[in-house]
Amino acid sequence: MMMKGDDIFTAVDIVSAIHTDHDSITRASTDFGHIVEAIPNGVFHPTSPADIAALIWLSISQSKPFTVAPRGQGHSSSGQALASGGIVIDMRSMGRHDHGYRVNMSPNELWVDVGAEQLWIDVLHATLKHGLTPRIWTDYLRITVGGTLSNGGIGGQAFRYGPQTSNVHDLDVVTGMGKMITCSPDKHSDLFFTALGGLGQFGVMTRARIALEHAPKRVLWVRIAYSDVESFTSDQELLISKRSSGSGFDYIEGQVQLNRTLTEGRRSSSFFSASELDQLAKLALRTGSSTIYYTEGAMYYNDDNASSVNQKLQRLLDELSFAPGFTFVRDVSYVEFLDRVGREEQKLRSAGVWDVPHPWLNLFVPRSRILDFDAGVFKGILKDTKPVGLILLYPMNKDRWDDRMTTATPDDDVFYAVGLLRSAVAAGDLERLERENAAVLDFCDQESVGCKQYLPHHASQDGWRRHFGEKWDRIATLKRKYDPLAILSPGQGIFPAAAMTGGDKADSDSL
Ligand SMILES: Cc1cc2nc3c(=O)[nH]c(=O)nc-3n(C[C@H](O)[C@H](O)[C@H](O)COP(=O)(O)OP(=O)(O)OC[C@H]3O[C@@H](n4cnc5c(N)ncnc54)[C@H](O)[C@@H]3O)c2cc1C
Repeated sequence: MMMKGDDIFTAVDIVSAIHTDHDSITRASTDFGHIVEAIPNGVFHPTSPADIAALIWLSISQSKPFTVAPRGQGHSSSGQALASGGIVIDMRSMGRHDHGYRVNMSPNELWVDVGAEQLWIDVLHATLKHGLTPRIWTDYLRITVGGTLSNGGIGGQAFRYGPQTSNVHDLDVVTGMGKMITCSPDKHSDLFFTALGGLGQFGVMTRARIALEHAPKRVLWVRIAYSDVESFTSDQELLISKRSSGSGFDYIEGQVQLNRTLTEGRRSSSFFSASELDQLAKLALRTGSSTIYYTEGAMYYNDDNASSVNQKLQRLLDELSFAPGFTFVRDVSYVEFLDRVGREEQKLRSAGVWDVPHPWLNLFVPRSRILDFDAGVFKGILKDTKPVGLILLYPMNKDRWDDRMTTATPDDDVFYAVGLLRSAVAAGDLERLERENAAVLDFCDQESVGCKQYLPHHASQDGWRRHFGEKWDRIATLKRKYDPLAILSPGQGIFPAAAMTGGDKADSDSL
């Protein structure tokens, strides 16, 4: 087999790194969602980007190329990292014997080079050793750099810094033609932008250079509650307009508690005590509101401003219109704050409700329609739903997103992330939650809400065309350029292999 680059592999080397034992195949056949099952022919364990290039060369040299799905932590919900009848690349094996060499810091230039297989929690600990930290975090850190950069990577710092994809200087990518390319906004920029948020369609990311800032030591972690959606959304939008770190929060998210969540849901959470949850339930009762909203903010601080941070928080709270007396504040370390869902995971695991089906639906809803969405979904479709899991609701500024990236966003200058992060814990839950999700999507379609799915899942190519809208033609062109045989990340279901055949290989050969 002919290979490009310095390393010469044989098909035998590659095949010997493909595991076909029952346990490997079973693990790679499903994901965090536990809804879709797709059995691969094998699981490839690369130790370097060149191994991945060699696997892809092996595939495309066949008369019938096999599909190849990079799998980070497999924490997708709808089979996005699966490869029915193909080969799953266990990206985590890249970092297994590295003794840390795949996380390399440049403290003076404020960036870190990380292997795409690294977990964000490990990136956090490595950068903190130098007093530095990435600027934007997902809520959960036991997922990989490549997995979140394939989607966007959103969290409470996104209002200021954009998604994780907006905080990358350059990338190493192995394309669907087995070429190893370093790309950046100035070099192979089409690959750079399309791979970010690219759902694994254009190449396998193997390294990302990520922007850093100085890490705070401590965090005031705050929740303030609302019984009416107008005050909640106008305060949230006020808060995300305060982007200079001078006077506002450093992190802003929010949640919705539906009626039955307060009366029948868990009696304590990792943030709220039982008596605080009682208070929230009483607020709903007193105001007659079927939903309670809360904004979650974080204010970072260090030794040098520890004495003034409480005053700064008070000044900010004085500007807001939450329910009087409904302020809850915790003073925690930066790591405790960022790893809060890791602690929640431990609790859910011990309760046996972590490895259950997760029919999650994430949407970006334009600011101009958020009140309609609230009325139709939270106070309509989901009003009396059984409480299982979490509903996130928080806004972001669109100008922090680069439209050249693949992630689809609504048109408004501000849009809300809505996460229906619900778990099926009892018989019948899965079917019911899936029905509710379908009703929410129908509502958005019928009312022309202009939503985009985040961590998207569409059953047909037509659905994907509508999802990407004006971006579709560019995405299809770049797919033909970088993965003309459509072998990469087939679990996304965007480009069926057959749709990509015919004349396209010639385009890519000129790369
Ligand atoms: C508990 C929990 C909390 C979450 N919270 C957030 C959150 O706050 N914000 C947020 O944005 N997301 C969040 N997510 C979603 C998460 O970011 C995505 O599901 C992400 O894809 C998971 O990463 P992973 O490493 O498990 O990716 P996988 O599920 O393994 O892969 C996801 C997709 O990316 C592709 N892929 C994986 N690695 C690479 C690579 N190196 N190069 C190219 N393609 C690749 C795969 O083929 C697949 O198509 C959360 C998920 C969970 C389970």
